[in-house]
Amino acid sequence: MANNNTRPAVFLDRDGTINREVEYLSWPDQLELIPGAATALRLLREAGFIIIVVTNQSGVARGFFDEERVKKVNKALETMLFQKGAVVDAWYYCPHHPEAGKPPYRKTCSCRKPYPGMVEQACRDFPINLSCSFVVGDNLSDMGLAENCGIRAVLVRTGHGEKVLQRAAGKLSEPVDFVAADLLDAAKWICAVQRAGG
Ligand SMILES: [Mg+2]
Ligand SMILES: [Zn+2]
Repeated sequence: MANNNTRPAVFLDRDGTINREVEYLSWPDQLELIPGAATALRLLREAGFIIIVVTNQSGVARGFFDEERVKKVNKALETMLFQKGAVVDAWYYCPHHPEAGKPPYRKTCSCRKPYPGMVEQACRDFPINLSCSFVVGDNLSDMGLAENCGIRAVLVRTGHGEKVLQRAAGKLSEPVDFVAADLLDAAKWICAVQRAGG
């Protein structure tokens, strides 16, 4: 372990994990919390985890909405969570896509999940102990992110999760450490793993 001042983090996907999946969600009034999401964040924070949201927002590259809108939606979601006593430490998004739209957003970046750029940035911004950290998401790109960062992955069945599992028919292309019903189930499992010493 690097030093004793670092803390574990949970890197959370946004759409389909914290709030209900809506394709290219871009308005605050489309936000609906998945039941238990705020409680999940509270449990994780009480257990000492830094809470980081990492979200792919290729709708920007595709010209569906701008970065200001992404920030507005994140802010609105942060407020909804805060009203339920849940705090997010930081929000990161990737506005890029390798093929869609125009430069500067059309690019092969290192931040679009499953690439680890957003996690690497969070590790520069916060004293994170990566080896004790987790990724939670509803898509294979989230599981790939965990794989690329060498950390544990939890797939939630909300959002695209159920569909991803059905398509995989028991053989997911990315390693998954736990399949959770939803974010609250994921948080309980993560806290139990942590209590067990790992
Ligand atoms: Mg998602
Ligand atoms: Zn990017």
